[in-house]
Amino acid sequence: MSLTTRKISRREFIEAGLLSAVSLSNLNILKKKKDIIIPPGVKERKVDKWVYSTCGYCSVGCSIMIGLSNGKAIKVKGNESHPTNKGKLCIKGHTEYLLYSTKGRAESPLIKAGGGFRSVSWDESLKIMSDKFKEIIAQYGPNAIAVYSTGQLQNEEFYALGKLVRAGIKTEHYDGNTTLCMSTAVAGYKRSLGEDAPPGCYEDLEEANLIMLIGSNLSEMHPILYDRILDANEKKKISIITVDPRQTPLASMSDLYIGIKPGTDIIFINAMAASLFAQGLVDEERVKSYATGLDELKGSLEKYTPQYVEDKTGISRAKVQEAALLYGKSKSSLILWTMGVNQSALGTKTVNAICNLAILTGNIGKAGAAPFSLTGQCNAMGSRILGSTTAYPGFRKLDNADEIGQIASLWNCPAEGLPRKRTPAKEIFEKIRKKEIKALWIIGTNPMVSFPDTSRTRDALDSLDFLVVQDAYHPTETSVFVDLILPAAMWGEKTGTMINSERRVNIARKALEPPGEAKSDFEIFLKVAEYMGYGELFKGWKSQEDAFEEIRMVTQGRICDLCGMTYERIEKANGIQWPCPSPEHPGTKRLFEDLRFFTSTGKAKLLVGEYAELTEAPNEEFPFILNSGRNQYHWHTGTKTRKIEALNELSPMPYVEMNPADAELYGINNRDWVEVASRRGAIRLRAIIAPEVRRGSLFIPFHYGEATPNFLIPDITDEFSHQPNFKQSAVRIKRIVSGRAKRGSEIQ
Ligand code: SF4
Repeated sequence: MSLTTRKISRREFIEAGLLSAVSLSNLNILKKKKDIIIPPGVKERKVDKWVYSTCGYCSVGCSIMIGLSNGKAIKVKGNESHPTNKGKLCIKGHTEYLLYSTKGRAESPLIKAGGGFRSVSWDESLKIMSDKFKEIIAQYGPNAIAVYSTGQLQNEEFYALGKLVRAGIKTEHYDGNTTLCMSTAVAGYKRSLGEDAPPGCYEDLEEANLIMLIGSNLSEMHPILYDRILDANEKKKISIITVDPRQTPLASMSDLYIGIKPGTDIIFINAMAASLFAQGLVDEERVKSYATGLDELKGSLEKYTPQYVEDKTGISRAKVQEAALLYGKSKSSLILWTMGVNQSALGTKTVNAICNLAILTGNIGKAGAAPFSLTGQCNAMGSRILGSTTAYPGFRKLDNADEIGQIASLWNCPAEGLPRKRTPAKEIFEKIRKKEIKALWIIGTNPMVSFPDTSRTRDALDSLDFLVVQDAYHPTETSVFVDLILPAAMWGEKTGTMINSERRVNIARKALEPPGEAKSDFEIFLKVAEYMGYGELFKGWKSQEDAFEEIRMVTQGRICDLCGMTYERIEKANGIQWPCPSPEHPGTKRLFEDLRFFTSTGKAKLLVGEYAELTEAPNEEFPFILNSGRNQYHWHTGTKTRKIEALNELSPMPYVEMNPADAELYGINNRDWVEVASRRGAIRLRAIIAPEVRRGSLFIPFHYGEATPNFLIPDITDEFSHQPNFKQSAVRIKRIVSGRAKRGSEIQ
C-alpha cells in the first residue's frame, strides 16, 4: 500500500507527538492513516527524486527515502519494502529532512582570533592543525595527542579515522562517545559469549512468546521496535515483563511490571536465576553441554533469599517467582535492554547476569530468544567493528600480537608502532586535566553536554594547548572552547554504510551537497592524513566505496565478516546482517544456532556477578536518586534536533519529572521552576509532575545543554567497560519560582 501525503495543522502535528508521550506511539497514528507528515509552515511540493538512505539518529536503523524537488529535500518517507521499519518512521525520522534548513551549520573552517573566530581556507586550517600536531608529537610524543569521536560516523569513516589515529599518529589516547552508551553491552557480550556478538535480530520481536525489557523505555527510545511489538501482540499473545524504576508506557501494558529500586537490577536478575533453579526450570545437564560455570553460579545464588531481595530491590518473592516462571516456561524468551542497564557502574555484571538467564534456559541461538542489547547511536556497531578504539578492525584484540601483525600486514605498516592499549574517555579527560595530553581532536560529539561532571570537562578543555572540533554545527556547547573548527557534512550529504543493532549493514546515500565549504568526515580524515604525511595509508582511495573494499578484506574470515557485501548488493537486499562471508551468502539472522560460542572452550560462560551499593546513596541532604535519560523528540545533546522548530515546539526546554506525592511534600507544582542540586553543583529547570516516576526518584532528560543532568553526576565508571554511571546519583530539589515565570532568565 502506498503512502499518501496529508497536510496537518500545527496543533495536530504537536498532538500526534504528545499522544505518543502519554500512551501509544505516534507511529500508530501514522500507520493507520498511512500519511507522510508535512509539518506546519512547510509548503507541499512534488518529489522528483527519492534517494535511498538510512536514518542518522538511532540504532534501530530505519530505512528512509529522502524526497528531493529541484535539488532540495522537501520530505522523507519510510521505505515500505525494508524489513526493519516497513515504511514507518518515528517523529525524529519524519522531521529529519528539516535539518537541511536549520541554522547554525559550520560552513567554513574557523580559527580562533581576537576573542572570536576568523574564517580560513581548508589549506590554511589543515596546515595549522598538522603543524601543531607535528610540533606536539616531536616535543612530547604521539600520546600527547588525543582523539575523541562518536557513534554517528559511517563505517568507512570509522575505518579511515582508526587507521589514521593508530597507524599514522600512533596515539593510545583514542576513544569514542560510544563508551558513554553501549560499551557495557560490548564488555558483557565479550565476557559471556566470547565476543561482541549480539545473538538476536528484530524478527525475534515477532517470534518471541515472551519479551522482558530491562531499563528500556522502548516507546520513546526505539519507537519502531515498540510498534513492532504492538503489532506482533495483536496477532499472537506475547507475555511482556518490564523491569524499570519508571512506569513507562510499555510497563503500563505489561503482564508483569517490576518497579524496581534504581540500581538494583542485578539483584533482581540474580534472584530470577535462583528462582529458575528452585522451580526446576534449568536442565542442568544440557546447559553443561554448552556452558561453563554452572555450579559456581548456582552456589553464588544462595544468598538471594526473598527477604534480602525484597529489602534491596523492593520486589516481593511472589513477583520474582512469577517473572522466573513466565520467562523459564515460555517456549522462546527475548530480553531487551538499553541504557538503564548499560549506564551503570554495575552494567557489565548486569549484562552477564542477563546472559546467564538466557544460557540457563536455552534462550539463545533460536528464533524469538536472545539476550539482545539495543544500542543508542545509528552506527555504534560500526565503531565497534571498524573504529580501532576498543579493538582493531574485525575484533582484533589490542593485546594480541598475532592479530596486531595481521593488521600491520593489511595496512602495510610496521606492527611495532601500532598502539596496544585502549585509553577510555574518562582517562583521556583526566590526562588532559593533568596536562599529559596537549591537543584534542573532537569529532561529531559534544562532551560539554554528554560527559559526566561538566565542570571537570570544562576544566579539561580549558587545559588544552590546542583543541580541534570537527562538527556539522557551530557553535555548540563544546565548539566555543576550540582553537580550530573543521566544518563537516552530515546525514544525507555523503554516501556510506552503517550497522544497526541487529548487525544489519545498510547504506545511507548522498542526497544533497553539504553547505558552504563543509566536507564529509571521510574527506577531512584523508586531508588531515595528507597534511600530516600519512597519505600512503590511504593510497588509491578516492571514495568511501574504495574504503569499503578494504573493509571487506579486513573482515574476511572474521566473526563480523562483511566480505560478501557490496554497496549495490546491500541496497538491493535492504541491508545484510553480518557475518556474510561470500557474495552468495544471504547474511546471518541469528548467531549461536549451533550453541558454539566464541570462547576458547567453545562454551558460553555463566558468570557470577555481585551487587555493590550505590556510590552515592540518598541521605538527608540529598534525598533523591537522579535518573537521567532521553525523550522521543530530541537526539542526544540536541545539536541537531533542537534546531528543528517542530520538535522544539513539542519539547522546548529542560525539565525534571517527579512523583506527585514527592511534589506535594516539597510544595512543587506542575511547571514550577525548581533547582536540582548535587555535590557537584545545581541546575534550574521546570518541574513536571509525573506519576510514572518512582517516589524518591527524579528523571531529567539530557538533551538540554543549559540544564544538563550530567552537570550533577559524578564521574564514576563501570570497571570492565569504563562506561559512566549516568543513572544514579544523590540530589535534592527545591522550588524557586512558580510556573507563571515564562523563562529561565526570570529566575536568575
Ligand atoms: Fe530514526 Fe530511530 Fe526513529 Fe527509526 S526509530 S526513524 S532509526 S530515530
